[in-house]
Amino acid sequence: MPLDLNKVSMPTQEPDKRVKNFKEVALGFNEEMAVKEASRCIQCKKPGCVAGCPVNIDIPAFIKLITEKDFMGAANKIKEKNNLPAICGRVCPQENQCEKRCVLAKKGAPVGIGRLERFAADYQLNSSCENPLKAKSTGRKVAVIGAGPAGLTCAADLAKMGHEVTIFEALHVPGGVLMYGIPEFRLPKKIVQAEIDLIKQLGVTIEVNSVVGKLVSVDELLEQGFDAVFIGTGAGLPYFMNIPGENLNGVYSANEFLTRTNLMKAYDFPNAATPIRVGEKVAVIGAGNVAMDAARTALRLGAKESYIVYRRSKDEIPARLEELEHAVEEGVQLKLLTSPIEILGNEQGWVTALKCLRYELGEPDESGRRRPIPIKGSEYLFEVDTVIMAIGQGPNPLVLQTTPGLDLNKRGNIVADEDGVTSKPGVFAGGDIVTGAATVILAMGAGKKAAKAIDDYLATK
Ligand SMILES: Cc1cc2nc3c(=O)[nH]c(=O)nc-3n(C[C@H](O)[C@H](O)[C@H](O)COP(=O)(O)OP(=O)(O)OC[C@H]3O[C@@H](n4cnc5c(N)ncnc54)[C@H](O)[C@@H]3O)c2cc1C
Repeated sequence: MPLDLNKVSMPTQEPDKRVKNFKEVALGFNEEMAVKEASRCIQCKKPGCVAGCPVNIDIPAFIKLITEKDFMGAANKIKEKNNLPAICGRVCPQENQCEKRCVLAKKGAPVGIGRLERFAADYQLNSSCENPLKAKSTGRKVAVIGAGPAGLTCAADLAKMGHEVTIFEALHVPGGVLMYGIPEFRLPKKIVQAEIDLIKQLGVTIEVNSVVGKLVSVDELLEQGFDAVFIGTGAGLPYFMNIPGENLNGVYSANEFLTRTNLMKAYDFPNAATPIRVGEKVAVIGAGNVAMDAARTALRLGAKESYIVYRRSKDEIPARLEELEHAVEEGVQLKLLTSPIEILGNEQGWVTALKCLRYELGEPDESGRRRPIPIKGSEYLFEVDTVIMAIGQGPNPLVLQTTPGLDLNKRGNIVADEDGVTSKPGVFAGGDIVTGAATVILAMGAGKKAAKAIDDYLATK
């Protein structure tokens, strides 16, 4: 049979409908679509896709099981390496990882590995599966700080090795960015909760509302009988531009805007108690995934116009292509080669406009992207009533400030080696707190490596 060079397309909600609700945009494959897409895989002898996956899932093997309609077997095969497959199938940047290395990508579209991962994982979740039996106890105790993808993965792997694991999570729900950052329309919270519940079945205890650095310190955890500590506290500290007007009413960090929408259920106003004010004309500063999420959320919360304001051109936009396309389909507008230098407000202290400069692009800088150069005398006013800053996040500082002996780099991230080993004996770290804001799967990969390193450490202790 000739090779089909196109992916089976993913059914999605229509843009004009979905922009009025928070339901998931991409609807997922049915069995027939999944088997058809899986049949495109040519089962390479040396599969590049596996090397391209930060947790090295045996991709050809799980895809083969889908072609054989053994969907549960496919999900179990993925689970050998990945405890959060329904999440990764939805939000991983596969186009830069496994799918980029797919041999079919040389001639056409790569196999839709992410879509197939999502299909198999959802099939298993809908079949009310249970995780395998708990491992035999080693009698060793490990504390994990932070219940984001790094902490959850580290905890799950340690539990599978027989260690007693307690996760301390500052918020009232576990999940980290998966719960408080990524919007419901990209990652339904019931999916995140279902995968966390399976991790709990492995024997992992999750203590929510537990802010380490306030309630208890890392040293106290070690004194209280934990044999090792893993820090996975993420990068949740929003950056601002430090321009005049950032303290006006109507200016948010994307972090606050998305957290209120997700965790305080602003999307469910008036049924939920915490609404969030969104004006008619919203400017989101930045063009990464976080910015796209904020701009799309603003439209769903009732904004008439939502803009991405970015100082480079469309070619340099760092968001996933799919997110950018979905945002534009929904009516998000791009204001490129422009950046604010001041936020203006009225007498009551509410935002009225951005004072912007226009930019042109110069030679590539150290990031490889063309450097934005402000054009002298190009100042202009752009009338908006809401501004959302989405220009990046730094490390959550509390644990770092209260843990003597932990080396940090000049950006304030924990210095740790490939296996998560830090300068402090018995203390390991991984995910965004080490790398700076990155991706779900990289955080999971770091959690996995640290779990192995902690197991080795406990064996020698
Ligand atoms: C809006 C948004 C959209 C994104 N979209 C994508 C995407 O589509 N695909 C992708 O791959 N990546 C995406 N990312 C990035 C990705 O979510 C992160 O790289 C990933 O979540 C990092 O995982 P982590 O476990 O290191 O940290 P986090 O997910 O940040 O989890 C850290 C946890 O630690 C807790 N914590 C912090 N301090 C303490 C303390 N003192 N005591 C106890 N607990 C503490 C926090 O409450 C949090 O639950 C997105 C990020 C954001 C913000």
